[in-house]
Parts: sequence; structure tokens; C-alpha cells
Amino acid sequence: MIKMEDVYKTYANGVTALNGVNIEIDQGEFVYIVGPSGAGKSTFIKLMYREVKPTTGKIVINNKDMSELKEKEVPFLRRNIGVIFQDFKLLPRLSVYENIAFALEVIEESPRNIRKRVMDVLEQVGLKNKARFIPDELSGGEQQRVSVARAIVNHPKVVIADEPTGNLDPETSWGIMRLFEEINASGTTIIMATHSKEIVNTIKKRVIAVEDGLIVRDEHRGEYGYEI
Ligand code: ADP
Ligand code: ADP
Repeated sequence: MIKMEDVYKTYANGVTALNGVNIEIDQGEFVYIVGPSGAGKSTFIKLMYREVKPTTGKIVINNKDMSELKEKEVPFLRRNIGVIFQDFKLLPRLSVYENIAFALEVIEESPRNIRKRVMDVLEQVGLKNKARFIPDELSGGEQQRVSVARAIVNHPKVVIADEPTGNLDPETSWGIMRLFEEINASGTTIIMATHSKEIVNTIKKRVIAVEDGLIVRDEHRGEYGYEI
């Protein structure tokens, strides 16, 4: 479960990105975050995985008050939250296999278990035959599948995606959405910021709209609600 209470975020340059956000997202929900550019969507998302800290307000993630989180606990939070970006953020010199194994960061796991988990997740995203490729040898859609695999290999409770289809053509985007639906069906919360009117209006889910740092709309099976 994710909860924000009166969350404000003002960056060092004086720009206020969030202006008093209150929200609750239950385990297993699928939520789209929509709104114009500069509305505060990325800031909202970054607060959830501790990329940024709130100026004031309370954030609780998986029953843990973020203000009480010690720096050394941040990796444990991240292990329970998979993050997916518009530009994939894969390590260019590592193979597909290594990009995913790296995310496991497990000392306690045997190499055999790591191998099994990586190959299982590659099978799930349909890239088992590309384990030895490096990111540059893959299409954009394939690279995004690798980053989905990296995000879910730890079986996190929450997957956060910031415009995951922003760099993909429509057909490839639908493939990524199908993966998200499968991941969500297994009980994982999905939170996805998007500018895709087509996706939001076709695969109906909860829609949270952010404008000028405020939540202006929160609807079950909502519409995208903007022209672009
Ligand atoms: P969105 O994702 O909806 O486009 P953002 O959360 O990225 O919105 O940005 C909200 C506002 O905060 C914008 O005015 C943006 O310029 C500003 N902003 C975002 N990140 C930073 C930062 N690191 N430093 C200063 N201002 C920022
Ligand atoms: P699309 O244009 O459909 O996004 P690409 O034309 O980039 O896809 O790639 C199509 C296929 O060719 C993919 O399966 C990808 O793995 C493979 N491929 C692309 N570039 C390379 C490369 N430099 N080396 C090996 N395989 C590649």
C-alpha cells in the first residue's frame, strides 16, 4: 500500500512541483498518472522510490514511513519496487542477462538460483533467445522488455513506470501493456505515468490526473481526458 498525506515538493531552484498531494493506492491496483507536461507526474513517481524526498508531508510505502527510512535501508525499499523508464536505462556494456542479474544484487543467492531466476523472467518477457545480446543489438521494444524483466526479477510488490511506451511505436507499446497486465494479474501494483490517450482509454484502469502539482481527478476506470 502507498499513501501520501499533504505532500509538498519544492526543488532547490524554488519551483514547487507538488502542492499538497493526498492519495492512497492499495496493493494490486493498476493506476495511470496523467496530466500536462510539467504538472508534477515525474516528481510524484520519484517520491515513491525515493529518488526525491518531500519538502513536507508524509509518505508511507509497504507500511514503512519514508521519513524514518535510513539511507542504508534504501536498497531494501528499491528491492520491493521495480522501476521502468521511458529511455530504458540499461547498462550498455552488459548483456541482457547481466543487466537483469545485476539487479538481483544477491549475495545469498547461489549462481544457480540467479541463473534460474534470470532465465525464468527472460522467458516471461519473451527474450530467452537474446540473453547474450547487448542493449544496442535490440530493438526499442526489446530493450523495454529487458527493463521490465529487470524491474520484476525480484518479485516486487510495486512496479512504477514513467512513460514506459514514450519511445515505442504503437504496436510495440501494446505488447508492453500486455506484459503489465500479466504482472498486475499476479497481484503486483502498477503505477504508470503516461501521455497515451489511446492506452488509457482502451485498457481501463484507475486514472489520477495531476495539474499544477495537485490531484485534480481520481477515477475508477477513468478516461485520459486531454486532447494530446
Ligand atoms: P511532469 O512529469 O508532469 O512533466 P515534473 O514532475 O517533471 O512534471 O516537473 C514538475 C515541475 O517541477 C516542473 O516545473 C519542472 O520544471 C520542475 N522540476 C522537475 N524536476 C526538477 C528538478 N530536479 N529541479 C528543479 N525543478 C524541477
Ligand atoms: P524495430 O525496428 O522493429 O524496433 P530493429 O530493426 O531495431 O527492430 O531490430 C529488429 C531485430 O534485429 C531485433 O530482433 C534485434 O534484436 C535485431 N537487431 C537489431 N540490431 C541488431 C544488431 N546490431 N545486432 C544484432 N541484432 C540486431
